[in-house]
Amino acid sequence: MKTFYIETFGCQMNAHDSEKVVGTLLQSGYSQVGAPAQADLVLYNTCSIRDKAEQKVFSRLQQFKHEAGKGKVFGVLGCVAQQEGEAIFERAPHVSLVAGSASYTRLPEMLVQLEAGNRRVTGLKLDTEETFDTPFTRRENPHRAYITIIEGCDKACAYCVVPMTRGPERSRTSESVMREARTLADFGYAEVQLLGQNVNSYRDPSPAGWDFARLLAATGEIAGIRRVRFTTSHPRDFGKGIVDAIESNPVLCNHVHLPVQSGSTNVLNRMQRLYSRDDYMRRIEWMKNARREIAITTDIIVGFPGETEADFNETLHLADEVEYDSMFIFKYSKRPNTPALQYEDHIPEEEKTRRFMVLQERQRAIQIRRNARCVGSREQVHVEGYNMATQQWIGRTSQNKTLNFVDPELPSPSGDNTLAGQFTDVLVTRAGPNSLAGERVRP
Ligand code: SF4
Repeated sequence: MKTFYIETFGCQMNAHDSEKVVGTLLQSGYSQVGAPAQADLVLYNTCSIRDKAEQKVFSRLQQFKHEAGKGKVFGVLGCVAQQEGEAIFERAPHVSLVAGSASYTRLPEMLVQLEAGNRRVTGLKLDTEETFDTPFTRRENPHRAYITIIEGCDKACAYCVVPMTRGPERSRTSESVMREARTLADFGYAEVQLLGQNVNSYRDPSPAGWDFARLLAATGEIAGIRRVRFTTSHPRDFGKGIVDAIESNPVLCNHVHLPVQSGSTNVLNRMQRLYSRDDYMRRIEWMKNARREIAITTDIIVGFPGETEADFNETLHLADEVEYDSMFIFKYSKRPNTPALQYEDHIPEEEKTRRFMVLQERQRAIQIRRNARCVGSREQVHVEGYNMATQQWIGRTSQNKTLNFVDPELPSPSGDNTLAGQFTDVLVTRAGPNSLAGERVRP
């Protein structure tokens, strides 16, 4: 039996792509092993969102340069594959497969070429209508299932490689998304997460013509589905209909991840984000004025070329004004083929680090304040597992907060007796900057 090993870098889209790649390989008669040394086929599903991420795959490949010509086959998948293309064969001659995410539907065919001894197999076509719809998906998480609804991106943010590595936007039909969600519910999945680089620009290509808010609402109506999440949104396409949908159905989680990237309209224009600070704040107001308390999280890039101290202060003020429940902060990283690469005024690394630390400290204080308000409240969590080290169950609230808790009647899993996958109520007794703690309460 042929064996394979796969390692995945980067975002949830990559993680889910790997679940489908694994499913396709198992369907093609391969079996999965836990280490590259044991595998006939070694695959790296890569990320190129930042230079550091890109370098990781080449340092992995470097470890196996002595394996060239000894029968073990190496493949590079994902965003670095699409970005670097056939140049990877020069840089790492022991690599035999280079395929971007837009070519995965051709994976079975590419495997046949590899098995036939072809040592330069590529899948680099980007102009495609196809989405990677496959019934063969080996899901990692037994309690929450990813569903890709749209692939690619038609935006052109000045720092981002995604349009060049994942191609133009192409949405799946609402019928195929609903069929997958119903099948998952039949398999016992109570929580699904709709995925896309920009889920808000979803447009059903079938005559039904659903937009994202319609698809979200319909997914929340499926019998057996108790929670629906979605990521990632783009403020330009984030419509009021999404907030209305969340308001009208508690199955739709009251958490929105809305990357702002900067609090300065000057910087947003240079980033080609297509919205101003005021446009963005209007969307925040919709959520702040909602009856259900919607948790808001975001992404921010510090040190973008040309970002002045005044621009950075506008980002700090926006963090104070919005009071995000959490924030992913990134230092600007030069990326190949992106417009920002041509910009003159790049910020020194130490200054990027200073701004990163200042914003991180500011946000930490906000999270401590916001989470402290949850102490004494009763939260329903979806139990994701058990932490042996802390001897606590790991739960997640609808607002996407981690709530670790103890259960006096079931202090730890024993045999089949586990809380994992269940929904249960927890009284919050403590709060920290990044998570909550509590004790299970019975009805
Ligand atoms: S919306 Fe912008 S940042 Fe997001 S994937 Fe598209 S180009 Fe990249």
